[in-house]
Amino acid sequence: MISADMEGATGVTWTGDVVPGTEQWQRFRRLFTADVNACVTGLVAGGAEQVLVNEAHSSQRNLLLEDLHDAARLLTGRHKPLSMMQGVDSDVDGVVFLGYHTAAGTRGVLAHTYMENSITGVWLDGVLASEGRLNAALAAEHGVPVLLVTGDDLTCADAATYAASAWTVAVKECVSRYAAVCLPPAVTSSQITAASTAAMASAGRAEAVVAPHRIEVEFDASHLAEAAAIVPTVELVGVQRVGFDATSMTAAMKAFKVVTHIAGAAMEDVYG
Ligand SMILES: [Zn+2]
Repeated sequence: MISADMEGATGVTWTGDVVPGTEQWQRFRRLFTADVNACVTGLVAGGAEQVLVNEAHSSQRNLLLEDLHDAARLLTGRHKPLSMMQGVDSDVDGVVFLGYHTAAGTRGVLAHTYMENSITGVWLDGVLASEGRLNAALAAEHGVPVLLVTGDDLTCADAATYAASAWTVAVKECVSRYAAVCLPPAVTSSQITAASTAAMASAGRAEAVVAPHRIEVEFDASHLAEAAAIVPTVELVGVQRVGFDATSMTAAMKAFKVVTHIAGAAMEDVYG
């Protein structure tokens, strides 16, 4: 399975590159699809019989089906219970985090955690967590290893802290949240293919480990935390911060999804 986000795709550094409907987004959809295809090529060369690609960015309608590698199936569109990780609970032997990015509250190209700019940090069991860290914990709960992570160099460094045995490919070097030294697609494609092939050596389900988890979320304004704290089980733990406990990572991520939706609905123009 490939969980495909867009901020960490080849060449992407800017809001317009990843916001659906813009001219730049139309351009970067092709580069994003090329990254995915390079990964599918490598996974198949490494022995994968089927590859499910789950769209994980924004509207979750970014990849070009008409250009997709014919060994892949595309799960496109939004409103999926497991969101970025929909499909991990099916018969999956490994997951690739493609086009991922660093966490809110850290450096990195287009760094954020789920909400683009209103969440200032998310903590999983007390550790500042990127989407990669959250999703790796969810994968572990289903016994699914993280095979490969692609994104900027800081995303790769982050991956080493939550999935030490995963391969990484840095398609760009972060200069600022909106700037990077980028490798061209011809180079990143071959690197992604080679890493995907090698990473397949680690494919295969491990023992599923289901455990309770705590997530805390900090926002950039108090009313967003107060709105989220209306959700049963979610408590206000600071002026701009909420926390909740869950009996499993799957339940924790579903509760997190509710928290981000409620906070998103409470955002106002200009002041947020
Ligand atoms: Zn993301």
